[in-house]
Amino acid sequence: MTRYDGEFFRRWLVLTAAAVEREAGRLTELDSAIGDADHGVNLRRGFAAVTAVLDKEAPDTPGAVLTLAGRQLISTVGGASGPLYGTLLRRTGKELGVEATVGRERLAAALGAGVAAVAQLGGAQAGDKTMLDALLPAVEGLGESFAAARDAAAQGALATVPLQARKGRASYLGERSIGHEDPGAASSALLIAALAEAAA
Ligand code: ADP
Ligand code: MG
Ligand code: MG
Repeated sequence: MTRYDGEFFRRWLVLTAAAVEREAGRLTELDSAIGDADHGVNLRRGFAAVTAVLDKEAPDTPGAVLTLAGRQLISTVGGASGPLYGTLLRRTGKELGVEATVGRERLAAALGAGVAAVAQLGGAQAGDKTMLDALLPAVEGLGESFAAARDAAAQGALATVPLQARKGRASYLGERSIGHEDPGAASSALLIAALAEAAA
């Protein structure tokens, strides 16, 4: 089975930063419908800072890359998504330990722990119309392949459209949150698509 090193994880985050940059307008538009219109701006700032700190500190193991990136997101993103994505990457990185390379199945288990930490921090679960609705299926898919993870995350994000938000700002809208894609689920689909792109 293929092994993935620190450079792979750095590439994942650089590809995520590029996707966020490209899609920032759409993410902010989604957040303007059911939130406060800052999701694209928040993530753009956060992932630009992640790219910069990875260049500066050049961590070499998968675990070190992800924990540094997670810390950077927590300190640079003001919105709810900063601590949540920061926790996702930090916890996933912590699970990967100090090994120089990891396999896909090991990554799937670590990402599962990272997603569980997001659920614990935000108190959300599947179907609450949050980033978890893309991330939980992605973890399942990653047990099979990177492409399956990408497709599951994309489907999960689209499946948030008919849901009523039960967590975050969108939940203040009650039934009016129905009919819109959750911005955090949309950005999580970008994160997982970038992972599949890095692996391709
Ligand atoms: P804010 O809502 O503080 O402006 P963002 O706009 O950057 O933050 O991020 C909003 C996204 O964060 C939502 O679309 C949702 O996916 C996610 N989110 C918000 N609250 C929670 C939570 N408690 N659990 C999981 N995800 C959440
Ligand atoms: Mg917002
Ligand atoms: Mg905000």
